[in-house]
Order: sequence, then structure tokens, then C-alpha cells
Amino acid sequence: MNFRDFKLEEPVFESIDAMGYDKPTPIQEKSIPITLQGKDLIACAQTGTGKTAAFLLPVISQIIAKGNDEHKIKALVITPTRELAIQIDQQLEGMSYFANVSSLAIYGGGDGMSFEVEKKALLEGADIIIVTPGRFISHLNLGYVDFSSLDHLILDEADRMLDMGFMEDIMKIINSMPKNRQTLMFSATMPTKIRQLAKKILNEPEEVSIAISKPAEGVFQAAFMVYNEQKISLLTHLLSSKNIDSSIIFSSTKDNVKKLYKELKKLKMNVGAIHSDLEQSERQEVLRLFKNRELQVIVATDVMARGIDIEGVGLVINYEVPSDVEDYIHRIGRTARADTKGIAFTFVNNEDQYKFYDIEKFLEKSIPKGKLPDSIGEGPIYDTTKFNNKEGRGKRPTYKRKNFKKK
Ligand code: AMP
Repeated sequence: MNFRDFKLEEPVFESIDAMGYDKPTPIQEKSIPITLQGKDLIACAQTGTGKTAAFLLPVISQIIAKGNDEHKIKALVITPTRELAIQIDQQLEGMSYFANVSSLAIYGGGDGMSFEVEKKALLEGADIIIVTPGRFISHLNLGYVDFSSLDHLILDEADRMLDMGFMEDIMKIINSMPKNRQTLMFSATMPTKIRQLAKKILNEPEEVSIAISKPAEGVFQAAFMVYNEQKISLLTHLLSSKNIDSSIIFSSTKDNVKKLYKELKKLKMNVGAIHSDLEQSERQEVLRLFKNRELQVIVATDVMARGIDIEGVGLVINYEVPSDVEDYIHRIGRTARADTKGIAFTFVNNEDQYKFYDIEKFLEKSIPKGKLPDSIGEGPIYDTTKFNNKEGRGKRPTYKRKNFKKK
């Protein structure tokens, strides 16, 4: 299939050419025709599948087709994090280059000045607005948001937004919109609460699903059984021996991220950190330096795991086992994007073995276990028998697996 098979407006084709997209990705193939027909859509697709273009291209095309003289809000994209809002806005800039379509991203995290700038921009109007729920509600409450020309609502990463507690804000935004609109909902997973939300806000939606819940083929995964006190030596050993110029280390808490950052700094590594205690501008700067290869390593919490599109990350290290299979897949999905090769290592201490075992069960394969270097000594033994007998299962801490679509 070719992009020219879609009934998109000519300026959209020009943008697609300029961006160098050869052919549509599977989610684009399935969802663009539905969106162009003006229907509501519920799509199960993860970041990395091309889902942003899947909703932006047909929405831009419809805006052009309708005639776009006044730059009032025609489409609203709601997304969970600032990073995603910025990223969608950047993709949109490329896509709307040849079209007379304006955009505005409203994501908070800035100072009072940026609130005023956003307010002014909202009053002036823009065709497509990309927002995070909390910040947008502040503007909505002040009464100057004009939805009278709104035709399209897009909920991006809907499952994540619900997990982050945005349900009430989202409903408030939706309730202040015209009922006669097209609604597109994208979610990486389809748990019951997402289906319930879909029922409430979508009108006879078509459903498409791209189940890429398994990691990309190009990711080489391995695990190291380690005691906590061995982890830092193993980390520095791997970072220096692999000699990869772009690595992300994930840790579960911001305190751990801060600690690791300090440790690696002490070792004179070219490292940055990303966690929620940093100002938005600081996080952006770290990302920028990392993307430009001025930073070789970043240590991050899960803020980073979803959606952030950085090309050429060679190595992902999970300093602890993520507490859920979905997070594992998102984290290792930062590497080996778009058919490249990458490595994902996971450090598994004794307490985390059951979580890792669950990940292996979900992936339906045993992940190779790496041998610790002699200088670090022996690590614990990976013993899954305790999870297979009744006694062991009874002792196992509760571990919630999110609703996950399998291939
Ligand atoms: P997303 O899933 O929206 O985060 O997109 C992941 C990456 O794929 C982004 O860098 C997009 O620019 C890129 N992309 C989207 N659609 C295509 C396409 N049809 N061909 C090549 N790359 C694409």
C-alpha cells in the first residue's frame, strides 16, 4: 500500500514526501481510511507504530478540505505528558509545513509567563491544539477557550491518562465540547476502564488493533542475576565495555535515579538525569543534549519510557526489574526502533526474580542470563522452581499484570 491510495489533500502528500515516509505503517493503513470517512475510532496501538501520523495526517487533510480561513480550534489532541505533547507538536510542524494549518502545544511546567503566552495564543486561535489535561483545564476554567469550531478530538495514550488520574479532567474537557464531532481514541492497552470510557465518549466507533506488545525483533535481551551491592560495578563495567554512544538506564524511583546519576558523575561519565523533580526546561535540555549525542548516558524514571522518540539508542539497562510487563516492553522499546539493532539488559536481584519470571512467561521465552565478570563475583542463582510449586506461589507478592494484548 502507498500513501497515494488514501484520499488525502495534496499538501498532506507533499509533507509526507518531505518527511521521507515511504509507505504507511500498519496502524496508518488501517486507521487513516476510517478517520477520513469522519467516523469515530478506537485504536489499540503503542508508541513507535506511527500512531501520531495515523491521527494527524487525516485530521490535517480534513481541516484543509473543509476550508481553513479562520484559525479557530478545529482539533484538540489530549496526551498524558509534556514530552509527548512537545513531540506531537514537532511532528505536526513537519506535517503541516505545506498546509495552512497552525498549531499550539499547551503542557504546563513553565512559569507564569508561558501561561500568559498560551492564553494569548488561545485567544488568537490555532487550528490544532495539543494539550496535557491538567494545564488545559486551568485555561478552560478561565472561560476563553472557544470550541465552537471544534470538529476532532483525539485522545492519545488513553490508558496512560487514566492511570495518571486524568479521568475527571478529561471528562470536564469533553463536556465543554460540541457533541457533534469526530473522536479518535488511541491506547496501548484495552482494559475494561478504557472500553467504558470509549462507550461514554465515542459514537459507534470502528475498532483497529495493532498488537505489537512483544518487543521488536532487533532487541537483544539479556538479564544479570545480581545482589544489590554488585549492581553499580556491573553497570559501570557494561557501560565501559560495550562502548555504546547512546544508553538509557531506567530506575524505578527518582531517588534511585538521583543516586545513580551522582555515582556515574563521580566516575566522570558523560551522564544526564531525567525525573519529575526537574523543571520542564531542564528535562528538555537533557533530552536535547542526549539527542545531539552530547550526553552519552541518561538515567531516567518511567517518565522517559513511553513515547519519547530518540533515534539510535544502542543500550537500555533496567537497573531494577520494572514492576509490570508493560513497562518492561516500553522501556526496552526505546532501543532498536525502526528496524535497527539494540541491546536491553535487566538487573535482577533476589527479590525481583518473580517479576522477571512473569516477564519471561509473558514473552513466552527464556531471556539469556549473562555471566557476571570475575571481578564482581558470583551473583544469586535464578531459581524459578519456587514460583512453580504451590508453596512458592502462595508466598509470592501480588504482582498485577495489566491487560495486555498478545499477538
Ligand atoms: P509514533 O508511533 O507516532 O511515536 O511514531 C514513531 C516514529 O515513526 C516517529 O519518528 C515518526 O516520525 C515515524 N513514522 C511515522 N509514520 C511513518 C512512516 N509511514 N514511515 C516511516 N516513519 C514513520
